Parts: sequence; C-alpha cells; structure tokens
Amino acid sequence: MLNTMKNSFVFPQRVEPDQIAFDIDGVVADTMGAFIKVASAEFGIDYLQKEQITDYWLEKCLPIPEETILAIIDRLLKDPFGVDLMPIKGAKQSLERLAAHSDSLTFVTARPIRQPILDWLVSLLEGVPREMINVIATGQHKAKPEILGGLGIKIFVEDHLETCEALCSNGIGAVVFDQPWNRQRTPFLRVSSWQEIMQLIKLT
Ligand SMILES: [Mg+2]
Repeated sequence: MLNTMKNSFVFPQRVEPDQIAFDIDGVVADTMGAFIKVASAEFGIDYLQKEQITDYWLEKCLPIPEETILAIIDRLLKDPFGVDLMPIKGAKQSLERLAAHSDSLTFVTARPIRQPILDWLVSLLEGVPREMINVIATGQHKAKPEILGGLGIKIFVEDHLETCEALCSNGIGAVVFDQPWNRQRTPFLRVSSWQEIMQLIKLT
C-alpha cells in the first residue's frame, strides 16, 4: 500500500516546528518581482509581468538577452536591499509566529552567496533573534536534499519543481509554493499562501 504512494508524498499529520524548512527566493522573497523592477529601472525593460515568467529558467520564457538576465540576477544575489527585495505576502508574520514555537528557523537556498540574503532575512524578521535564523547557501539546487536530510527536515517549501522531485526521491516531503513558473502537474502538495504553509505545522 505504501509503495503505491512512493511518488506522492502524503502528510499524515502536522509536522513539528523544527521539521520544516524553506527555500527563500519565490517562497519568502518576491524575487521575480524584484527582477521585474530592476529590469525596468536599470535596464529600461518596462514591459515584463510576472505571469510571463512561465519557466523557472528565465532565458527560456523572457524575450530579453541572456546576458541581461544574468546581470539582473547578479544584482538580486548581491544586493537585496538595493533592488528593494520585498517579502511574499504573509511570510514575515508567519515566520515570526513560527519562531515563537521553535528553536530556529531554517532556510536552504541555492544562492551561491549567503551574507546578503541572510542580512535581508534578519532585517525582515526583526522580531526574531539573529542566532535563530539559520541560512544555508548551497550554490546548487541538487545539494538541497542531502543537506535537508542531514538536518532532520521532514518537509521543505520550494518553488522549483525539479528540486521538489529530488527532495521526494530522498524521502523529504516537497511542498510546491505555487508560482506562474511551476504550474505543471505534479504529485506534490501545492500551497498558494503562507496561511496554507502554517496549517502544515503543529503550533500548540
Ligand atoms: Mg526558489
């Protein structure tokens, strides 16, 4: 019976607060929104809308040169404050609430550099002690499952479908945070808000 469910992770009950972890870009941070703002303000590309981003890999879905995409991404990686990176609705309040029930908050990102996004999270989560905010920057998507497994994480909220597949193959419950670039059919639990994420967690 269980074998038949191998590729569709089922959450029989809510997880403990220290058993969930989060991707940052596209889950906590409205990174694509910042991409669109930088494209307009710094590169004069003023016609982009988020619904046009139908693929995680921007060069596959946006009509702008790859070197421009890379230049904008470089800005997003190095200077979250300078690009006015904003949180996704509900993320700040939910994470601050979760912090009150947990010893630490864990974020695992494929970003290659950690400090700028750590500083941004610390600033965002002003009510959470800095030492509680654990950010791991892997530099590559495929490193996430092993790191999360080592931390005892049971479920991970992610907007990149291939990473969700890799997580599931490694026994970690993948939760897709719904975005225009991940709307393909998947067997994974899909959430559309932080309110739904919080319903996965035991908060007593
Ligand atoms: Mg992401």
